[in-house]
Amino acid sequence: MTCDLWRDKLDAYVDSACSQEELASLEAHLRACPTCATEALGRLQLKRMTQAAAARYSPSPEFRLRMEKSIQTKRRPPVRAFAWLPGTWMPGMAAVAVALALLAVGLTLGMRHAARGQAVAELVDLHVATMASANPVDVISTDRHTVKPWFQGKLPFTFNLPELQNSSFKLVGGRVMYFKHSPGAQLLFQLRNHELSVFVLQEQALQSQAGIPSETGVTTAREMAFNVETWSEGGLRYVVIGDASPADIQELSQLMRAAR
Ligand SMILES: [Zn+2]
Repeated sequence: MTCDLWRDKLDAYVDSACSQEELASLEAHLRACPTCATEALGRLQLKRMTQAAAARYSPSPEFRLRMEKSIQTKRRPPVRAFAWLPGTWMPGMAAVAVALALLAVGLTLGMRHAARGQAVAELVDLHVATMASANPVDVISTDRHTVKPWFQGKLPFTFNLPELQNSSFKLVGGRVMYFKHSPGAQLLFQLRNHELSVFVLQEQALQSQAGIPSETGVTTAREMAFNVETWSEGGLRYVVIGDASPADIQELSQLMRAAR
């Protein structure tokens, strides 16, 4: 199939609307074709930016209040109607209060969830961009004793790299990246035909952003068929991302945690 035919499928891909079959062949093509991969990344970023813009431009509290007042004056029934039925207004008001409280909780949770999803989505984008890049890493080495010192002086923190001799994972290299204006490390690992990124970021720098889920565990960034595991240790936030299985992601996470 020529690139033109793949291009027609990219929008469906970005919207997670591809069939399982299409997805497999398209992803195989994206791995082999930097032009289409770049195009896919561009469309993905556009989608993310549109989503972010939609979340950013929310109505001001004053505007919201004005709207609520105008709705209230239109809908408020005559007070006397309630005077006839003592007791009726109480459950009514309680139900409204409960509904409003639930709405507020839902909105807060929803916003937090969206912010988390947004941060993970941004890191997934970074991972995809790295994969599509002609020079994915700045230090190419399978030797952790080469990669670790390379980061020294480039980052305001240090971290340990795992011993991989008895595992199927292979260290490819690493690069300095920026997330929310803070420098961090991106490490690239290979597992069979899968590529995995481990992001090491400063928790302190991220706290004001409240962007990354605080709990440990594997979450699935379903839209892109990537698995993600994240945890916090020693003031650093670790995020493992890859198209490998959740079990593989967990294994690499364990190796990272065991690194001394
Ligand atoms: Zn192509």
